[in-house]
Amino acid sequence: MPSIKNKISYYYDSEVGTSYYAPNHPMKPHRLSMTHSLVLAYRLHENLDVFRPRKATTSELAQFHAEDYVDFLSKITPNTQHEYLTQMQRFNLGEDCPIFDGLFDFCKIYSGGSIEGAVRINHGTSDIAINWSGGLHHAKKSEASGFCYINDIVLATLELLKYHARVLYIDIDIHHGDGVEEAFYLTDRVMTVSFHKFGDLFFPGTGDLGDIGMNNGKYYSVNVPLHDGMDDQNFIDIFKSTMQKVMEVFQPGAIILQCGADSLAADRLGCFNLTLQGHASCVAFMKSFNIPLLVLGGGGYIKSNVARCWANETATLLGRTLDENIPEHEFYYEYYSDASYQLKVQQKNPIENLNSCSYLQDIKTCILNNLSQLEVAPSVQMHELPPEAFIPELDDSALNEDELSRNIIKNMAVNEMESRDRE
Ligand SMILES: [Zn+2]
Repeated sequence: MPSIKNKISYYYDSEVGTSYYAPNHPMKPHRLSMTHSLVLAYRLHENLDVFRPRKATTSELAQFHAEDYVDFLSKITPNTQHEYLTQMQRFNLGEDCPIFDGLFDFCKIYSGGSIEGAVRINHGTSDIAINWSGGLHHAKKSEASGFCYINDIVLATLELLKYHARVLYIDIDIHHGDGVEEAFYLTDRVMTVSFHKFGDLFFPGTGDLGDIGMNNGKYYSVNVPLHDGMDDQNFIDIFKSTMQKVMEVFQPGAIILQCGADSLAADRLGCFNLTLQGHASCVAFMKSFNIPLLVLGGGGYIKSNVARCWANETATLLGRTLDENIPEHEFYYEYYSDASYQLKVQQKNPIENLNSCSYLQDIKTCILNNLSQLEVAPSVQMHELPPEAFIPELDDSALNEDELSRNIIKNMAVNEMESRDRE
């Protein structure tokens, strides 16, 4: 394929990497600092426009979320939460979604990155935008869920819908992308496609094959429910056949790809057998359509593997192949001793693949049949574009080398905190 030079923007703020959910909580934002360091160590930033995202405003968050929920998130602190037990329960805050210092800023930054990425795609200033801190797909309108508070994906989709008649959302996290599906379940302007483990009460419990959307949205929600032990070959096969058909019938103007890394082998919460290459094949395949692409993070609970995965997929988007030996770099190099400093996922005990050929063939047939109901891309009456007045001007200056390294150094404090709390 001829190499097409894409303009790729990349969003990172060290403040998200220093956020800390709670002792022994599986979600460790520190993995974002490690990812960024690895991106720099492989010198990928030289071909990216690197931005520190602005913080999303409260009114931007309320484009999807209920105002009382956003208001509560903006005010609650670890010290005051005990006075608000009723609201804590109502908004599903507490154990899985704890209140921690800087929580609201954390939400505003990761959401800001996704919204800004969408704006740059809308304006044609980027072909691809990457925000590894985004992709928090479980958050609901008035409720936190599964380590997610604000649904940056829904917010970015709403932004893309200002310019694009149809937006495609794809989710390869091991968990069902329930928050995004629910938000767009009734519309034909957003198609959501989620590949996930389903059954055995696996979180969040939704995403069955028969959940296909309703009303105008019928056939615009696609669910690919999988069992334990999916390997590269099985996953890539069902991913490509599904997405090829989706692209034919839906013809999106823009795509959001959530790259949750908990679908990799050996994940602390996951149960698939994907390698870094298998996971990245999905990214490469979607890039090959040359449609504007917003790439987001998501789950991923072995920090070193998350960093490997997302640095490798940053390279994939740049059309580069990385050296198998992780380059020595400051601060986090030791974390990669778990696989002899190699760019691979070390899997000691592979999980048995419980997806039989006939099961996979059956769900594939069912999904392709459903998609055949949409042979012609729906025509959408585009309304006059809504005003963008509430969105401040983008700071268009990419970070220079000095600023990039300062961004890392600030992470030293959390490093110490995390080393007490290793996986
Ligand atoms: Zn997940």
